[in-house]
Amino acid sequence: SNKTTGSYTTTGRLVIISGPSGAGKSTVVRRLLDECDLPLEMSISATTREPRAGEQDGADYFFISDEEFQRRRKAGDFLECKEVFGLGHWYGTLKNQVASGLNDGKLVILEIDVQGALAILDQKEFSPISLFIQPGTMEELEHRLRSRGTETEQAITARLETAGREMLFLHRYQHEIINDSVDRAVSEICQILKVQKEKQACS
Ligand code: 5GP
Repeated sequence: SNKTTGSYTTTGRLVIISGPSGAGKSTVVRRLLDECDLPLEMSISATTREPRAGEQDGADYFFISDEEFQRRRKAGDFLECKEVFGLGHWYGTLKNQVASGLNDGKLVILEIDVQGALAILDQKEFSPISLFIQPGTMEELEHRLRSRGTETEQAITARLETAGREMLFLHRYQHEIINDSVDRAVSEICQILKVQKEKQACS
C-alpha cells in the first residue's frame, strides 16, 4: 500500500479548509499556524492566476503558466486540481506538498475550494478533517472583497456567485466555523484539531 496514505504507516492527517473567497480563510489559517500548538503544515498550491501585490512565489502559491500547469497535470503531479471561478484560472494541490508532511505525522492544511475538497473526500484512502469557514454575513463578504481592491468587478461578481453555490455543499464538511471574530474562529479550529489528534493517538 501507499506509504503516504496507508492508514497505520502514518499519523499525519489532511485538514481541508474551504469557504467563500473573502470569508477570511487566509487570515485565519495564518493565525492558526502561528498560535495553535500542533504540528501544522501548510500545503502550497499551484495556480495559473497572476500574483496579487505582496504575494510571493513559493510562499503564497507556486505561480505557474498554463502550459506548465497542464504539463504537470498530465504528469500526475496533482492530488486534485480544478478550474476555479470560471475565469480560466487553475488551482491544484501538489502531491509532493502533502506527502512528506503526512509521513512526518503533520496536520497538512489544504486551503481549497469545494470542488477540490469533494475530489479529495471521494478518494477513499484519505480521511481528512474538513472545515467550512463562513463569513459573518453575505454583506460582510461583499464588503471584504471590495475593500481588498485587488479584484475587477467581474471577478467580484463571479466570487459572490461561487460563494452562494459553495454554501450548498456545507453539509459535506464535518465542521462549520463562523468567522465573525478571527480570535474565536482560530481557537475553535485549534480545539477541533486537538480533539482529532488526541482521538487518533488512542485508536
Ligand atoms: P484566491 O485566488 O483568492 O487565492 O483563491 C481562490 C480560491 O481557490 C479559494 O477558494 C481557494 O480556496 C481555492 N484554491 C486555492 N488553492 C487551491 C487548490 O490547490 N485546489 C483547489 N481546488 N482550490 C484551491
